[in-house]
Amino acid sequence: MRLSRYFMPTLKEDPKEAQIASHRLMLRAGMIQQSSAGIYSWLPLGNRVLKNIERIVREEQDRAGALEILMPTIQPADLWRESGRYDDYGKEMLRIVDRHDRDMLYGPTNEEQVTDIFRSHVNSYKDLPLNLYHIQWKFRDEVRPRFGVMRGREFLMKDAYSFDLDYEGAKIAYNTMFVAYLKTYARLGLQAIPLRADTGPIGGDLSHEFIILADTGESEVFYHKDILNLKTPEGDHTPEELQALVDEWTSYYAAADEMHDADNCGVAEGDLVARRGIEVGHIFHFGEKYSKAMGATVMGPDGKEITVSMGSYGIGVSRLVGGIIEACHDEAGIVWPEEVAPFKVGLINLKSGDEACDAACEDFYAKLQAAGIEVLYDDTSDRAGGKFAKMDLIGVPYQVTIGPRGLKTGVVEFKTRKSGEKEEITPEAALNRLV
Ligand code: ATP
Ligand code: MG
Ligand code: MG
Ligand code: MG
Repeated sequence: MRLSRYFMPTLKEDPKEAQIASHRLMLRAGMIQQSSAGIYSWLPLGNRVLKNIERIVREEQDRAGALEILMPTIQPADLWRESGRYDDYGKEMLRIVDRHDRDMLYGPTNEEQVTDIFRSHVNSYKDLPLNLYHIQWKFRDEVRPRFGVMRGREFLMKDAYSFDLDYEGAKIAYNTMFVAYLKTYARLGLQAIPLRADTGPIGGDLSHEFIILADTGESEVFYHKDILNLKTPEGDHTPEELQALVDEWTSYYAAADEMHDADNCGVAEGDLVARRGIEVGHIFHFGEKYSKAMGATVMGPDGKEITVSMGSYGIGVSRLVGGIIEACHDEAGIVWPEEVAPFKVGLINLKSGDEACDAACEDFYAKLQAAGIEVLYDDTSDRAGGKFAKMDLIGVPYQVTIGPRGLKTGVVEFKTRKSGEKEEITPEAALNRLV
């Protein structure tokens, strides 16, 4: 991508409305534009990051055996009347009346909708286990939308729903998602901590929130310091291995403030850490709550009807864009982990219009493109300082700068955004590092 042909409306000044770094940097990098409170347009740079996160989330869901579907954003109120949640949900639900006076709503979540799909088509125990997910926009009319995309009203969520014959099956589905979440966050460059979460009236121990640590997080969290040393699992796992992994990760104390019990947490004072965190995912086993109310049953092996056991598994895809920036930035701007970066390389032409510089940049640009490397080429006639500042701000992991002085001795400058390290190397050596 040539910057001269790109649409990236960066800001030099800090926008006044932004209270935290991620919101400030997303606006300054021209990633988003607010439409109304908690509702945003995603501009090209922001959209690229959002799609990258979505892709990683999708790959890990697919790998875990979940099947992607796409349910609508607008749902009929009648489905929610069946579960009893239409009245319970309160003001966070955006209610809509269509031209025929039918009550509709912009879905804040999809348990009812997916249960309706299940009950319409699945009749036999032989079709289980089943896990259906989608990545779709949600709407929650939050009292206080704030921090940009972190607490939006319209936001992108991955939500998966598992269906099993019994609790034992549901537990395998739960553990599968638990481990898939650990892998997902690790690939996003994040260290996520699973916290014991409230299961409400359903009870049991199968609910965890996944949080990432950040001073600006809205949740207060308490955990045993050693949980941060656990290694993210790799590869495929049998149900027994899944259970062992979940047991290992949950053997360390970790709870949000509403679940925290200072006197009975069993952690020595020096080992207990209190920090703030951002909820980036939530998994939940709720058993027969919806299947019972909505008649989602299958025929068992003995011909008897069985009400299926369900769970739901959410990841805040759009919140993660802000969350990753909270975890990965410095004074100069964003420092994207490589897998989610909007471009892998920023190519800076120090003297656009200079024949030798243009030719060397074009050649380098063409070679990166031929190798399938995503590169943003600053071919504008802006000042060098402005070009460097812009690449730092938007956080591309590697910057290659080509200028007249270096060309004379056959070198380019290669900068690693994260460490700040700069090296003078040949263009060939730079290419070899990138492809
Ligand atoms: P919160 O406690 O932050 O209000 P929640 O517990 O209400 O979140 P869930 O119903 O568990 O949210 O939804 C699953 C995920 O969706 C959350 O873990 C979070 O990452 C994301 N999410 C929820 N609300 C929002 C929002 N208003 N804006 C952006 N992402 C959100
Ligand atoms: Mg909420
Ligand atoms: Mg929550
Ligand atoms: Mg939650």
